[in-house]
Amino acid sequence: MTGRLIARHAPAQGGGRAPRLRAEITQRRVAAVQRLIPATLIFNLVHVGLFALAVWGAVPSGHFVLWGCATALAVALLLVPWRAYRRGNPSRVEDMERIQRQITLLAGLRALAWGVGAIVFLPQLGPDRQLLVGLIAGGMMCAEVFGFAAFPLATLVYGGVLTLTGSMALLSAGMTAFEIVPLLVFFAYVLVIVRHQAGLFLEETRDAHARDEAQRDVAMSLNDFEANSSDWLWQTDASGRFCAVSPRFSKAAGLDAETLNGMHFSELFAPDAEFFNTVICERVRLREPLSDARASVQVGGVQRYWSISASPQWDRVDGFCGVRGVAQDITGKLLAERRLQQLAHTDQLTGLINRTRFLELLTEAFATRPASEIGIVSLDLTGFKLINDTLGHPVGDALLRDLGARLRAWAGDAFDVARLGGDEFTVLLLDINGPAEVESVAAELLELFDAPFVVGTHSLVIDGSAGAALGGAHGADADALMRNADLALYAAKAEGRGRKRMFEAEMCAGLLRRKQLECALHGAEERGELHLYYQPIFELSTGKVVAYEALLRWTSPELGPVDPEEFISVAEESGLIVPIGDWVLAQAARDAASWPSDIQVCVNVSPVQLRNTTLLSKLVQNLDRYGLLPSRLTLEITEGVLLEAGSHVAGTLHDLLNLGVGIALDDFGTGYSSLSYLRSFPFSKIKIDESFVEGLDSNPANAQIIRAIVDMANALGFDVVAEGVETPMQLAELKALNCKYVQGYLFAPPQSANDLIVLTDRRGKLKASQA
Ligand code: C2E
Ligand code: MG
Ligand code: MG
Repeated sequence: MTGRLIARHAPAQGGGRAPRLRAEITQRRVAAVQRLIPATLIFNLVHVGLFALAVWGAVPSGHFVLWGCATALAVALLLVPWRAYRRGNPSRVEDMERIQRQITLLAGLRALAWGVGAIVFLPQLGPDRQLLVGLIAGGMMCAEVFGFAAFPLATLVYGGVLTLTGSMALLSAGMTAFEIVPLLVFFAYVLVIVRHQAGLFLEETRDAHARDEAQRDVAMSLNDFEANSSDWLWQTDASGRFCAVSPRFSKAAGLDAETLNGMHFSELFAPDAEFFNTVICERVRLREPLSDARASVQVGGVQRYWSISASPQWDRVDGFCGVRGVAQDITGKLLAERRLQQLAHTDQLTGLINRTRFLELLTEAFATRPASEIGIVSLDLTGFKLINDTLGHPVGDALLRDLGARLRAWAGDAFDVARLGGDEFTVLLLDINGPAEVESVAAELLELFDAPFVVGTHSLVIDGSAGAALGGAHGADADALMRNADLALYAAKAEGRGRKRMFEAEMCAGLLRRKQLECALHGAEERGELHLYYQPIFELSTGKVVAYEALLRWTSPELGPVDPEEFISVAEESGLIVPIGDWVLAQAARDAASWPSDIQVCVNVSPVQLRNTTLLSKLVQNLDRYGLLPSRLTLEITEGVLLEAGSHVAGTLHDLLNLGVGIALDDFGTGYSSLSYLRSFPFSKIKIDESFVEGLDSNPANAQIIRAIVDMANALGFDVVAEGVETPMQLAELKALNCKYVQGYLFAPPQSANDLIVLTDRRGKLKASQA
């Protein structure tokens, strides 16, 4: 529409608005009148025929033929302006004005021809024929007046000449001046009608002109906009086909303007995989506006993306007349956006989705399906930190990548697997059919750890733990489900390696307690909430105290005394065991420095402390500071530490041995209990766990185990301590089994350092009855 308007107005450009309006009025008038010329011509000739019939025989035929030819010629001359219009250029104002003059002149000429006919023939006719001629002339006048209404000058000339000549004809036919009054009244009425019709025509023309001007202004500013921006304009007609395609649009679409003009909107924006086009085509079909809607277009076989804004166009006369809009190529922006989104949703190390994306998917799942169909299984590696610390981060990363690949291969297209961070992975299960299915998936996932992870020259055998939770029962939304799967994982880890657990409500309480403990434990040593108790270790043959084991006690102001078994594992998990362990070592060294020089101090150290590279230097500092010989200190470690052989931990243990510090293997028999460990390291003592001692009087197998341990230790030159001796019967058995040292409530419970002085003074030796 815009293009058509611009073409139509092009010659008038440069002139003012008023001359343009005048030119348009002339154009419209000529256009309106010339359309009627063929009909006017035919009806005038028919009227000449009718006139001939009316006057035939009553007037001399020679006169009539002469008049008829002259009139027919005056009528036929209408072909001149008609042809001129057809052949000329309607947009040339001068041509139109010339045609307008011709039409006016010919209107006068035709009226004159008819008037002369009336003047000449009317007096020669009888009253009947006069009436017939009057009717023919009146009809003629009416028809021409209405036909040429858009052209007031021509109508006035026609009507004026015809009224004048008609009056003369009536007078010459013998009528009185009074009798021609109806003709004059008729002419006056014609004048009113002509004025009215001309007014309507002018008004309509002015309106149309104003509309065109406004559209032209819009078109010009849009053209201007198009020329100065990266966007392009497009429009469709009412049937949804592109029209007035601009060069910029055709270039952007990679199609020439001829192809694009007439192409349907839905053809250019054919259905695409992302459903962009489906949306925009539907909205255009429904005549709804578009605002920055995305569309995909094939431009020269290459996929491009456009942003489209458009509004439907309405015309007062025709109603909906199409859609007009702007478009912009956003391919680069969109691809960059997608890349960013992908980065924001992907774990860079494994290529799996990340926590953000996983949460999105889980939230979406809760929004679109019953919660009971959703399950998640969270996975965690046992001892991953150790691998990172001992073999380095590149090995740890490669291990995670390998596990990521195993999980991806296992999941295929069926499940979404995410790496949430560190060594934490989660699998989203949809369409789940009850808890049993979630548990079986958890079991399958743990099987992925069966084969060793080969990284370079390392073949790493590592276990995973799995925590599972089911939507609805274990969480009503994404956050709750994730949290509870985590709790289940936590519980699985606490059970040992390679275990899986389904969430249970009680797990929440346990976690809460642990969080509470962790909070309260922060800064406990600075606030003086920690104390050391000591429990003596006796030599059975002499009955003398050879050592005291330092046992940590914590009394929290809010929580009261807390069981070491409980708070030490919290301290280990949170890493707080490192500062706390430093405090224990310092305190134990200080206390031991005041004891007789033949009494040792045994200090429990956690694997976490041994992994910490500062342990050795801090220990040396404390020994120096309190003047305690290294040979008076024994560190008690548990079997788990030995799994880290070959690592930094093993190095530290050897450094400690070289320093002269003794290393005791605590709780022997509870962990991985392998006698081969005993060969792998020169321990100073092996402490048989109290659970073997406890069952000594009831379970004969325990005695055999203790005997085997004692024999092995004796062969290797280690001392054996039996822990948790509570009864004289146990003591007797241990003696019979050749156990050298004992520790337990039977002799003394753990006591504060102050009570200890009394104890050593009074009971430096075992009571005779016990010995
Ligand atoms: P553990 O090293 O095996 O310490 C011996 C545990 O047995 C102590 O428990 C002691 O009170 C208890 N015990 C002593 N005699 C008997 C007995 O006749 N019968 C029974 N049933 N138990 C007896 P406690 O003090 O509760 O410590 C528990 C564990 O906490 C310790 O086991 C040790 O592994 C850990 N622990 C204690 N203090 C420290 C510390 O300073 N650092 C670290 N890393 N761990 C510590
Ligand atoms: Mg111990
Ligand atoms: Mg023990």
